[in-house]
Amino acid sequence: MSRYRLLPTPAQEAVLRDHCGHARYVWNLAVEQHAHWHPGRRNAPGYLEQCRQLTQARAEHPWLAAGSQTVQQQALRDFAQAMTAFFDPGNPAGRPSWRKAGRDEGFRIVGRGRQWEVRRVSRHVGQVWVPKAGWVRFRWSRAVPPEVKSYRVTMDRTGRWHVAFAVIPEPVPAPGIGQAVGIDRGVAVAAALSTGELLHCPALTGRERIRLRRLQRRLARAQRGSNRRGRVKCAIARLRARETDRRKDWAEKASTDIARRFDVIRVEDLQITNMTRSAKGTPENPGRNVRQKAGLNRGILRSGWGLLVRRLEEKAPGRVEKVRPALTSQRCSACGQVDRDSRESQAVFRCTACGFACHADVNAAINIAAGHAVTARGGDGAARPVNREPHLLASLTGRGQLESPAIHGGGGCQEESMSGARGARARRH
Ligand SMILES: [Zn+2]
Repeated sequence: MSRYRLLPTPAQEAVLRDHCGHARYVWNLAVEQHAHWHPGRRNAPGYLEQCRQLTQARAEHPWLAAGSQTVQQQALRDFAQAMTAFFDPGNPAGRPSWRKAGRDEGFRIVGRGRQWEVRRVSRHVGQVWVPKAGWVRFRWSRAVPPEVKSYRVTMDRTGRWHVAFAVIPEPVPAPGIGQAVGIDRGVAVAAALSTGELLHCPALTGRERIRLRRLQRRLARAQRGSNRRGRVKCAIARLRARETDRRKDWAEKASTDIARRFDVIRVEDLQITNMTRSAKGTPENPGRNVRQKAGLNRGILRSGWGLLVRRLEEKAPGRVEKVRPALTSQRCSACGQVDRDSRESQAVFRCTACGFACHADVNAAINIAAGHAVTARGGDGAARPVNREPHLLASLTGRGQLESPAIHGGGGCQEESMSGARGARARRH
């Protein structure tokens, strides 16, 4: 997906804001209809029924009728897609949820040639056709892929407008040298390859982090509803947006590079959404080690791991294998011994049996490349407790398939992630 800064005129901006409002209204209406549905009740209306209802609503509400039917119908279609994703057992998408004004602002347009078109007007300026707004200028920061079929316009919390053209990344051809690579999700570094490379995902610089902390303190002191508070919030959002941009850029480049160099790409099968969700616990049942887990989770999210894996699956379809990560961090990649004491520190692995020493994340990556997932009792059968990942093992023992790594097929749907289901899910955390 390629995203460009949109530069609407004030008059066009008013139209875009209306489109956002209508899309949100229609989406939330659909969410509400489905929220009332319980097993045993008549089915909640499907897409076609909702379209009929939309026509009716437009007849009754002039403000809705004044808006673009294309935008409103597309919001319904996006919702239908999000529901399909939600019911798909192979898809981790959550239930489509409410969209909030000021936070989830955006709409989608499909049907290039009929509903919209894109063109370049000068070296640095392009124009995209938006229903009812006409040609809206955008910063031509790189070429728009010729095969784009739809786009999504969004407004972030700082009031910046963007247009993102949806394109399923072209699969990168496999090098055909029969080489597999393992990638371990690190916390200190974003990812470690079994080749020994450490990939760093750019985050905020030290100075930017200091500024962020200062702004957050200022925000805590600012009075609710004051202008000052609004300004501080805006500045914080800008910093966060910068961090996100960097992470996306990194994931894009790293995934292309990896897909180009290796035939088979093995990654840990981390249920990232589950991990991030479980950290807080509930008021009645607070999670254990909440603080540590929350810190780790921040690290995971910041490292852009999830994004990297998604892009890899798109660029190397069928070549990404997910391996159960059980104890990969405690197993020696040289001799196979499993011992928690081999993990000297966060960064250093030194085998207690054979003395093999290596960056801890690289050692894990080599295990992943080999597809090794070991049992709690595996390895040398030492009496020492070697199980350091109890939550993981608990979920594994029930299946009894500890020796063989679980492999799920790759392949993701780019269109779907545009629809907002994933976006909304990501924003909730
Ligand atoms: Zn060893």
